[in-house]
Amino acid sequence: ERTTTEEQIRLSERRSAHNYHPLPVVIHSAEGAWVTDVEGRRYLDCLAGYSSMNFGHGNQTILAAAREQLDRLTLTSRAFFHDRFAEFVSRLADLCGKDMVLPMNTGAEAVETAIKVARKWGYEVKGVAPDQANIVVMEDNFHGRTTTIVGFSTDPDAYGGFGPFTPGFRVVKYGSAEAVREAIDENTVAVLLEPIQGEAGVLVPPDGYLAAVRQICTENDVLLVADEIQSGLGRTGATFACDHEDVVPDVYVLGKALGGGVVPVSAVVADAGVLGVIKPGQHGSTFGGNPLACAVGTAVVGLLETGEYQARARELGAHLHEELRRLGPGVVSVRGRGLWAGVDVDPSLGTGRQVSEALMRRGVLAKDTHGSTIRLAPPLVVSRDDLSWAVEQLAAVLREL
Ligand code: PLP
Repeated sequence: ERTTTEEQIRLSERRSAHNYHPLPVVIHSAEGAWVTDVEGRRYLDCLAGYSSMNFGHGNQTILAAAREQLDRLTLTSRAFFHDRFAEFVSRLADLCGKDMVLPMNTGAEAVETAIKVARKWGYEVKGVAPDQANIVVMEDNFHGRTTTIVGFSTDPDAYGGFGPFTPGFRVVKYGSAEAVREAIDENTVAVLLEPIQGEAGVLVPPDGYLAAVRQICTENDVLLVADEIQSGLGRTGATFACDHEDVVPDVYVLGKALGGGVVPVSAVVADAGVLGVIKPGQHGSTFGGNPLACAVGTAVVGLLETGEYQARARELGAHLHEELRRLGPGVVSVRGRGLWAGVDVDPSLGTGRQVSEALMRRGVLAKDTHGSTIRLAPPLVVSRDDLSWAVEQLAAVLREL
């Protein structure tokens, strides 16, 4: 009988690497925006698996697609075609307004894929001299945990102790289009950015930034690669965070919610002139584009095609931000877009961790990031009343600290 919170945590800590510092709650089941722990306590999920659960826990449309597929065919590898592949890649490409898709599994894999594609495009299409390609990336970026990706992170926790790293990246200040322009030279093949920086604390760049970077990329024959792994697929009140500035990147990098919270599904989506540089044998993944992933991914694309989730995120997000703005002096600043908020708590009151733990005791699961920032990103199926209640709990925590 190892069902109690304490016993589960003790065993988990003893028998697994400590690469996370979870809140002390052991979740047993979930529905919609709510989770239940092993003691039967309920919590409003305001993290949503770092935006993987955009469509809610136990979404019946997604689960039905998964169940149907589980009984029929789950994996073939890409050595063969299978009958769930064509529909998934076509509908996802259409959702993005692009020609084609390269499916992978995790976010980091998709980012790695985009880096490889951009480099190869640089050599074969742009005409960059062999091994001279560079990619402009942003300060405080978060694109995943592989060695190449952490090599251009500016967070010592992410890169410290893991070198040597892949060369070919130039780090510039996030939010400054001028800095991007200055970093670009004739060997630049891509600018890689998060349209809103999630892990950095839900940092929204200044108005006009994405559009300006788009223009600079176009003028310089450089690919704009948008990592929409966390910001995309409804979270901000649009299908993509880039949509808010009517910006169309050359390459979308997608993950998290694309797998409906059921299986890891990621993808790089671009036009044939870009993705076409990858030929048989040059890139791949045993699980990428498997039948179960395609069935779930197709169900997710179907939910997004209706526009309902984007609309919910837009309307409920406006409500959330209005409520957050009314929070008292314990809050230094509130940022975000749609159902996505970063709340900076006055550090003199306590750490983000302390706030998250106090919120947990009041039935709200949220995660801190970078010291004193609390991020809120509930499933898009959350109700308006639940959102108001969550903000009330935050207000109560700030009063009690
Ligand atoms: N890119 C962004 C913007 C992310 O937020 C994340 C995960 O938090 C990743 C990439 C990495 O995704 P994964 O953890 O699936 O590798």
